[in-house]
Amino acid sequence: MRIRRLLTIVALVAIIGVLLGLTTGYVYRWRGQQYKEGAPAPGGPGTEPTPGIEPAPGPSVPDPNGPSRPPPGPDQPIPPQIDAGPPVPIVDHLASGTSGAAGAAGTGAGTGAASAGTVGSAKGPAKRIALTFDAGWVFDTTGDLLDVLDREGVRATFFLRAKWVEDHPDLARDIAARGHLVGDHSFSHQDMTRLAYDAREAELTRSEAVFQSVLGRKPTLFRPPYGAYDRVLLGELNRHGYRAAVMWTIDSLDWEEPGADKVEAKVLKNARDGAIVLMHVGSHDGLTALPAIIEGLRRDGYQFVRLDTVGR
Ligand SMILES: [Zn+2]
Repeated sequence: MRIRRLLTIVALVAIIGVLLGLTTGYVYRWRGQQYKEGAPAPGGPGTEPTPGIEPAPGPSVPDPNGPSRPPPGPDQPIPPQIDAGPPVPIVDHLASGTSGAAGAAGTGAGTGAASAGTVGSAKGPAKRIALTFDAGWVFDTTGDLLDVLDREGVRATFFLRAKWVEDHPDLARDIAARGHLVGDHSFSHQDMTRLAYDAREAELTRSEAVFQSVLGRKPTLFRPPYGAYDRVLLGELNRHGYRAAVMWTIDSLDWEEPGADKVEAKVLKNARDGAIVLMHVGSHDGLTALPAIIEGLRRDGYQFVRLDTVGR
């Protein structure tokens, strides 16, 4: 009798434990969604932003942060002695109308001589669009990509993983020398919201050191790997001197290599004034589609801008 009662109690405790675990999981998942609220997910909920070609190349290397990645965790605890501080703004499109362009007068901070905000020949009230290229691991088509942009007279913004910069300093210098704006894509391309506070700080510090030594300056824009951020990360970015966390309006999904025509259609169909287009260094379909994307956008009245003026 006593044993049966004991067993009942043990079973009840186990059931309560399981229920608690499930509830906590849901709360964490829900909180994660809240933190990612500002992140665009053009493909609808559950769309994974930027894995794909960036994870290490090679035959079927499973990507630990790939599409089956678990949902984001809660905001990482911040050590009590550190003030979370004001966040940098999250930018997922260019400010509309003249207010966005107005910034072209001033804040090309750290971008060197070629900090003119806009490139293009459109007259009158042109629509503006920004091409952005993330670099993670793949590098071998960088020169071809830069040649296409040169030929078309387009200046873009590149978000480089600092380890990529460390491994290919000449390519990073070439990107900057050819007039493109360079932003930081973290040192190692981990989901920053899943790192402990110290590890995040180390990512930013290492990243800054690499950019400083290779390009002679620190970037002022940050694109979080996988588009994952939380309030604490935005505060850290602010303290590290960044102007903004940059997301995107149109995910070209070029890393999926779905065919150049699909990449082109995705971008052209979704283009609108102020859009930020996400593409990747190393995507063959993206590279093939690029001339048609640029010509199509020009035909539709767009001019291409770097992201010099976004952020605070
Ligand atoms: Zn990335």
